[in-house]
Amino acid sequence: FLSDKSAKVFVAGHRGLVGSAIVRRLHHLGFTNLILRTHAELDLTRQSDVEAFFATEKPQFVILAAAKVGGIHANNTYPADFISINLQIQTNVIDSAYRHGAKKLLFLGSSCIYPKFAPQPIPEDALLTGPLEPTNEWYAIAKISGIKMCQAYRIQYSWDAISGMPTNLYGPNDNFHPENSHVLPALMRRFHEAKVKGAKEVVVWGSGSPLREFLHVDDLADAVIFMMEKYSGLSHLNVGSGKEVTIKELAELVKEVVGFEGELVWDSSKPDGTPRKLMDSSKLADLGWTSKVSLKDGLRDTYQWYLENVKQ
Ligand code: GDP
Repeated sequence: FLSDKSAKVFVAGHRGLVGSAIVRRLHHLGFTNLILRTHAELDLTRQSDVEAFFATEKPQFVILAAAKVGGIHANNTYPADFISINLQIQTNVIDSAYRHGAKKLLFLGSSCIYPKFAPQPIPEDALLTGPLEPTNEWYAIAKISGIKMCQAYRIQYSWDAISGMPTNLYGPNDNFHPENSHVLPALMRRFHEAKVKGAKEVVVWGSGSPLREFLHVDDLADAVIFMMEKYSGLSHLNVGSGKEVTIKELAELVKEVVGFEGELVWDSSKPDGTPRKLMDSSKLADLGWTSKVSLKDGLRDTYQWYLENVKQ
């Protein structure tokens, strides 16, 4: 992958948190032939449009970072969107990439593919060993199908499709929607707005006790390049930082980085979700990759981006 910087690389979802970080990294590495399409230019849920795009462009490499994503609330509220849009996007892109001669494809999912009560840290082979966390099973079922589709194409066609399952991601271009986003950007925005207004309290959902692992998206982008270069196997690979914090610790850290001086109020009417979600990323570590950005540095970087972009 890294030996030809003029190869055509299609990054699907290049405006999102993940896709934009991958594009930054590819540019930094000197790739000159990235193929990018906005949602308005190419709707990935439309099979015939995707087919026509691949027939014309024939990308050599495909990184599939396009998906409908969101936090607990969004998953609970829009289950039909989460299952159908994700199944359509990934089925169209994976199949067209194969049919039009892409050499390699990397599919991205998330840690919510694993059973709610999977052993911790969660190894790759915990997949499909138990029931999913009900709040995000629609999204999870779609992503599990994507992994299986990559495996099936590898088995039937000897095609080099791989999957990476990142832990909870954050960073520039994240979704900062007050209700529909994930915990980290939601809290960053809430603390920021409270600081600006001079509010005394900020509401945080749930009990504060769930444990989560976070990975800065620049680390994920680095891992994606690493996998494109070094990995061609049947199993999906976990991509995590290996470090977990409670939601309470996270809230205190975001509060500190933002500089909010009031109190936290816990809203126990909101769901906690899965109690703990730490990935076992030792397979990727054995291949030679580990994360570099600490949570505190990553939060500072993300808040800086937020301040520069909050008006848009
Ligand atoms: P999850 O990792 O799939 O459970 O997704 P989230 O990032 O949405 O939530 C992680 C945890 O943070 C859950 O325990 C939430 O209840 C908690 N949390 C606390 N405050 C918030 C908030 O403002 N937004 C979200 N999305 N989660 C919050």
